[in-house]
Amino acid sequence: MKIILLGAPGSGKGTQASLITEKYNLPHISTGEIFRENIKNQTPLGVKVKEVMDSGNLCPDDLTIEIVKDRLSKEDCKGGYMLDGFPRNLTQAKALDEFLAPDIVINIDVDIKKIEHRIVGRRSCSKCKGSFHTDFIGNTEICPDCGAKLVIRKDDNAQTVRERINVYQNQTSPLIDYYTAQNKLCSVNGNQEIDDVFSEIVKVLG
Ligand code: AMP
Repeated sequence: MKIILLGAPGSGKGTQASLITEKYNLPHISTGEIFRENIKNQTPLGVKVKEVMDSGNLCPDDLTIEIVKDRLSKEDCKGGYMLDGFPRNLTQAKALDEFLAPDIVINIDVDIKKIEHRIVGRRSCSKCKGSFHTDFIGNTEICPDCGAKLVIRKDDNAQTVRERINVYQNQTSPLIDYYTAQNKLCSVNGNQEIDDVFSEIVKVLG
């Protein structure tokens, strides 16, 4: 099963991708997470993408496509993949189609007006990578799942969020038409509770 999760920033892609990979035993490939790890470890790639990522813009296509191709060539992707955050534009989607096209694209549809609140209150675990919201966990700095320290992503601030939403609307949302034309797109309502979104996804995946 080769799955893509599409959705605006803050739509819950990462959370749903983790649930899907657990249930269907697929490798969870998050380009954002790959870039963040490289920035944390100050690798040459991390140094290259830090500024653009902090500004809310997209990292260069050629670099991102190479990283994904390399990752998809690994043994654990033989039985499929769960791509979270890739592709982000038509160039990337076409490159993926030539390399290892998806079987299904799940679009998590959320109310754009609620995104800023969802992102600005987001807290991420530095260890297990879980994602939480202050609406539910308050102002704690401790991960409710594993007890490690919670952090605020550098690009999860009100100003960068607006840029990320612009990028999504201009560059990523055209992928909805692209995959609809290929008969691969299924939309789920992302404005519900996490478990309800996941139930819809499971139904879609059959
Ligand atoms: P995410 O964790 O998916 O929200 O991604 C965080 C940031 O990583 C984005 O705002 C981009 O700067 C960068 N990024 C992630 N995926 C891609 C991609 N497919 N193409 C270009 N940049 C990406």
